[in-house]
Parts: sequence; C-alpha cells; structure tokens
Amino acid sequence: MSGQTKSKSGILYPDMYVDSLLDIPLDELQGKNIKAFILDLDNTITEWNSNYIREEIAAWFKTILDQGFKACILSNNGQQRVVQVAQSLGIPFISRAKKPRRGAFRRAVELMGVQPEETAVIGDQIFTDVLGGNRAGLFTILVVPIARREFVGTKFSRAMEYFVLRRLRKDRFPTK
Ligand SMILES: [Mg+2]
Repeated sequence: MSGQTKSKSGILYPDMYVDSLLDIPLDELQGKNIKAFILDLDNTITEWNSNYIREEIAAWFKTILDQGFKACILSNNGQQRVVQVAQSLGIPFISRAKKPRRGAFRRAVELMGVQPEETAVIGDQIFTDVLGGNRAGLFTILVVPIARREFVGTKFSRAMEYFVLRRLRKDRFPTK
C-alpha cells in the first residue's frame, strides 16, 4: 500500500486541527478525495471509558454515512469497550489496535475497501492517532479531547503533547 509521503519532522503534525468531529469540513475533505474515516473512540467520539454518545455526535455519524463516507472505529481499548459504541453507530471497529503501530491502520483501510490516500484518521492524541496515521501515510485530523477525564497513563503523553501543540499553534494554526 502506498500513501502520501510525509517528512520525518512532520510526523507529529496533523494535517488538520479542529475542536470536534462537528467542526470537520466535510466538503473540503471530499474535495481532497477523502472517502473514509478511521476514528478513535475515547475522547474523540465519547468521553473516556463512557458509552454515552451525545446526540449531536450520533447525528454527525448519520450525516457522514448518508453522504457516502465510510467509517471505522480504531481503538487501543478492548473489544468489550468498543463493540457497544460501534454497534449503536452501525460501523465496524478494530479493538486492541496497538496505535501508533501501523498494522491496525492498514487493516482498517482494507476493511473499508478504500485506498490509503482516500482515508483520514480522526483522533485526540498526537502520539497514538496522529503519529500512527502519519506513519501509515494517511491524512490526519486532530480533535480537542471531549473531556479531560482520562486514564492516568496518558498523562505523560499529554505533557509531551503540550510542547508539540504549542509549536503547532504557533506555526500552523495561529488562531488556535
Ligand atoms: Mg482518544
């Protein structure tokens, strides 16, 4: 599989940075020939370790599916955690994805029957979602985490992210 090539220094930078799923410019992505989304679960679709899907998030999924986008949840969490959300949204999932390793990103692309260059990764973490998506040659979209209520293990990553984000805001997204 071939994807777009990204420079080594840009491997931690998303191609797009938005506040939430609701702010993703679908027309612009269609213009870039994006046809499928690989979505992180915790803090991207739901709050951390919660199965509750906000009404507007559920409506957003209906919108993208109606517009012909494909979608797949890719989570490092276990199947038990992921299956209920995936089923209620009516989309496939891959659990225990071992992000940022590339394997599961490639499996998700294959599962949706699209090409890597037609696929965008959406997630709230630079060191799993963005890094993994970039390494797999996919378009990457960083969202602001839904809640700060998180697994304690991500605290270190968050501290590292702070420095990357500070530079990112300055360099690429001066309004953030
Ligand atoms: Mg997440």
